[in-house]
Amino acid sequence: MNRRMLLTTIIALFCIVLAGCANGIPAVPEATPASTDQPTPAAAGAGIPTTAPTIAAPAGSAALACSSGSRSASLTPELTEGPYFKADSPERASLVDASTPGTKLVISGYVYSADCQPVAHALLDFWQADANGSYDNTGYNLRGHQYTDANGRYELTSVVPGLYIGRTEHIHVKVQAPNARLITTQLFFPGVAQNDSDGIYDPALLLALQQEGSGDQALYNFVVPTQ
Ligand code: FE
Repeated sequence: MNRRMLLTTIIALFCIVLAGCANGIPAVPEATPASTDQPTPAAAGAGIPTTAPTIAAPAGSAALACSSGSRSASLTPELTEGPYFKADSPERASLVDASTPGTKLVISGYVYSADCQPVAHALLDFWQADANGSYDNTGYNLRGHQYTDANGRYELTSVVPGLYIGRTEHIHVKVQAPNARLITTQLFFPGVAQNDSDGIYDPALLLALQQEGSGDQALYNFVVPTQ
């Protein structure tokens, strides 16, 4: 090998090490910057609630209807109104104050159409027995109505109702999308011994519920007619 061939060989090897410069292709940088298309963890979480519902629904319950990306759901089952409904309840999201006896209960969720679109300004009218199982039939204690917000969400603050003769624990509610047919139903509590002996009880209407501190936190999504 003469000097010229030796020099050529050395240059060729050098260029191979530099990853292709002999062909005019720029060497690939060792440290490729992260693509700007990929959201950083901080950006991915921006605007998304970090307290997404994590309470599991009991077996047979439709409490989490339309969550997890579902595109359709069965309408919430309808149940009897019972004898204690009173029209014209006050508009309020909390039915209690600091002196109301009983285990504090917060129920939240959404009102959806059957194709799982949130329903804004849907009416929810709740009424229930107090912690001793008695209804207020003269006033409006533990009665109140509210409307879903622009995202279809509602939140009710109350207490866990007591038992009364012949019935398991339940909360009555009427739900109505704007200008649509109103449904009347009842919500039930998981783990109550009297559920199975209550002829009105429907497990599809069981709250997803967990104890939180001294109270109960519960979820229930309603699916209602929209015409
Ligand atoms: Fe009742």
